[in-house]
Amino acid sequence: MKILLVEDSATLRHAMSQYISEAGHTPLIARSGEEALQLLEDTPVDLIIMDVEMPGLNGFETTRLIREWLGGHWIPIIFVTGKNEDESYREGIEAGGDDYLIKPVSPVIIKAKIRAMARIAEMRDQLNHLNAELEALSQLDSLTQVLNRRTFNDRASQQWLLAVRHQTPTSVLMIDVDYFKPYNDHYGHPAGDRCLKKITQALTSCLHRPADLLGRYGGEEFIALLPNTDRTGAQQVAKSINQAVRDLAVEHRYSPVTDRVTVSIGGATCSHSMGHSLEEVIKAADKALYRVKHSGRDAFATEEVSAHKTLLIGTRHPGLTQSVSAMLQEHCNIVTADTPEECLEIARDVTPDLIIVDAETAFYNDNQLCRQLARRPRTATTALLVLTDDCDQPDRLANPEGAGPVGWLSQPFDEEDLCTKVQLLLG
Ligand code: GH3
Ligand code: MG
Ligand code: MG
Ligand code: MG
Repeated sequence: MKILLVEDSATLRHAMSQYISEAGHTPLIARSGEEALQLLEDTPVDLIIMDVEMPGLNGFETTRLIREWLGGHWIPIIFVTGKNEDESYREGIEAGGDDYLIKPVSPVIIKAKIRAMARIAEMRDQLNHLNAELEALSQLDSLTQVLNRRTFNDRASQQWLLAVRHQTPTSVLMIDVDYFKPYNDHYGHPAGDRCLKKITQALTSCLHRPADLLGRYGGEEFIALLPNTDRTGAQQVAKSINQAVRDLAVEHRYSPVTDRVTVSIGGATCSHSMGHSLEEVIKAADKALYRVKHSGRDAFATEEVSAHKTLLIGTRHPGLTQSVSAMLQEHCNIVTADTPEECLEIARDVTPDLIIVDAETAFYNDNQLCRQLARRPRTATTALLVLTDDCDQPDRLANPEGAGPVGWLSQPFDEEDLCTKVQLLLG
């Protein structure tokens, strides 16, 4: 172990570091609390032996700072001091010390204490190690070793946010084993489990990109998320999965489809994630799977989730209309209005999913736009994004009771800022 000795007395430093070496450990020396803190910044140690009375930071103060700095990571700290009062003992333990020895300390005692603390530190290491293993295990499905449903959902949500930010297409595949109930009924549950493991191998062999995610979604149902993959790509992967499972050639004499185990795959692709949610895509994949199940199985079908959302841009500044349109037209249908009145009129007619206005339009005539929108059932929940060039302005827009969500974006903004804000309001 590396043992840090914090001691201002040269004599004691010499004696103690000798004890430490004799006990088979490496002493590191600090002559003050300050020096100890500095040393710890770039040298990890396993145990600290700390004097209490020192010029500058005393041992208790130093210990408090060390504990604060280490956060959740525990290393044992033993005080060695001439202060023999109960109160001082209490203060030392309160400060974060683990033991308290009174000077003069015999070499036998100090070596025994080091051994005891080393044992505890070792137990801590084992516990940390086990925790890390447990953490990894809890993310995987125990039978197939692919992501369990919860972890899949977490990771898929992260990928989805990236797709929204960078406006890349995302595909989801739902994969369900055909006639697996009769398989289990005839070959037995353990054989069913072995079959699921083989299918997992086939699935894994078809997902080549590092960002692809595979999860076990239910009993004999798997789900794959394919980031940055369009519908054609999803169809290719689905086709290869169908083939890979057939190629396993796992006998299934009780399947009405063929004499071997097969899967049905429903896929969905969202090319314009703006305004859509991952749940929507998963639902669409589920629907596609249902279609395959009802049209013969051992095949795939895909859907596109890409209905564009409608945005209304209201500003009397053509430059602003132009730049916002340019940033969003690829992902949304865009309608524009030059005046607050026109904006309201169009909002009533087309019922946009989101209205983007500049502050001038939003605040016009005592927030007329917001109040009028809130008044009509069709537009009451319509989201509003106000582009401001003044951070104080949000206070001026009273959001009436029952109105839709309101967001703010200060100018100048870039495409990513705008897309993120729009997605947030549409979601
Ligand atoms: P379909 O083609 O319509 O999907 O038919 P199916 O029989 O596969 O459909 P169903 O969902 O009715 O049956 C799923 C069966 O999968 C139920 C159960 O026997 C089996 N199963 C689910 N989870 C496991 C598992 O962990 N191990 C094993 N061995 N079997 C499982
Ligand atoms: Mg001292
Ligand atoms: Mg099934
Ligand atoms: Mg099923």
